[in-house]
Amino acid sequence: MSFDLAARLAARRAEHLYRQRPLLDSPQGPQVLVDGRPLLAFCSNDYLGLANHPEVVRALRDGAAHWGVGGGASHLVVGHGTPHHRLEEALAEFTGRPRALLFSSGYMANLAAVTALVGQGDSVLEDRLNHASLLDAGLLSGARFARYLHNDPASLVGRLEKATGNTLVVTDGVFSMDGDLANLPALCAAARQKGAWVMVDDAHGFGPLGAHGGGIVEHFGLGPEDVPVLVGTLGKAFGTAGAFVAGSEELIETLIQFARPYIYTTSQPPALACATLKSLELLRTEDWRREHLNRLIARFRAGAVELGLALMDSPTPIQPLLIGASACALEFSRLLRERGFLVGAIRPPTVPAGTARLRVTLSSAHSEEQVDRLLAALGECQALLPAEEDA
Ligand code: PMP
Repeated sequence: MSFDLAARLAARRAEHLYRQRPLLDSPQGPQVLVDGRPLLAFCSNDYLGLANHPEVVRALRDGAAHWGVGGGASHLVVGHGTPHHRLEEALAEFTGRPRALLFSSGYMANLAAVTALVGQGDSVLEDRLNHASLLDAGLLSGARFARYLHNDPASLVGRLEKATGNTLVVTDGVFSMDGDLANLPALCAAARQKGAWVMVDDAHGFGPLGAHGGGIVEHFGLGPEDVPVLVGTLGKAFGTAGAFVAGSEELIETLIQFARPYIYTTSQPPALACATLKSLELLRTEDWRREHLNRLIARFRAGAVELGLALMDSPTPIQPLLIGASACALEFSRLLRERGFLVGAIRPPTVPAGTARLRVTLSSAHSEEQVDRLLAALGECQALLPAEEDA
């Protein structure tokens, strides 16, 4: 027996699934420097342009000057500071829930919530296109794990009928690789009928969606009785890092007492919480960011239709273009890069086989002129691509 890593890596390459990390030599923003070259980026999740906002940067700097850098320990030992606490209170108020709990990443928040709520004898039902962290959490929980067809309440009902024990229905709010919205009103109604709880990971909805950036629950006008477990991440539209779970007093206390990914990890740096408090304020109050972003989304979609590009059913800043073969998506991305645009090719296993795509994302930091330039480049590159069967 041996670990033949070289063979594994070679196979990955042969399938056009090898991943590489662009090396960024600049702050986030529409214009980035990658490997020393200026590129116009359409692949960040910084949907509201807050990652490099001077007031957020200042809040981080002032926070570090006052609180130092490291969290020092886990929240339960000596790592829970006033900035963390104030941010939790602000996030609870923002989401309209009694409490919120801060995590260092969305991956951890999802692992924590699912594994603390269900275990052996229980059931966890997930949309088949859920984010990897939710699927991993379901598998790790030890509960009976089943996936329902994407965004399909009838398929969920079928799964609910076979569920046992406490049952948690888990869905992305905005699907991260497709950009479409979970059909939450119908999914919540189905879950409620069977006494199941719904957990929504709205990593990509907070900020862009809802009149005040309150995400998919605000968009659909749903309340805590529909979605008792609400997760948001802070590394996307908030422009900082970390995540939160919002819910009832009992839910949050249960996570503090039982969630291993909460208990056994160092708290995030308190200065980061200071920065997020500032970005939360901007996200809630600067409506022009959402309005401009929505105009860009409409402009991009109209232009893509004119070019005959394969848009997906997305009203959000995630505007993937379906390509199909991984090799083709890679080539498209390479051609764009040659022309000065950074757009990632998303391939299996992140998306189902045969559905590789270009994941175009828009930000309120982009201008209309930049979107038009992207459209022109997309049209040019599309014409240069080999036909699918030759790829
Ligand atoms: N949930 C969803 C839907 C995501 O897209 C992501 C990040 N890509 C996460 C959770 C994980 O969040 P984080 O990056 O903060 O770990």
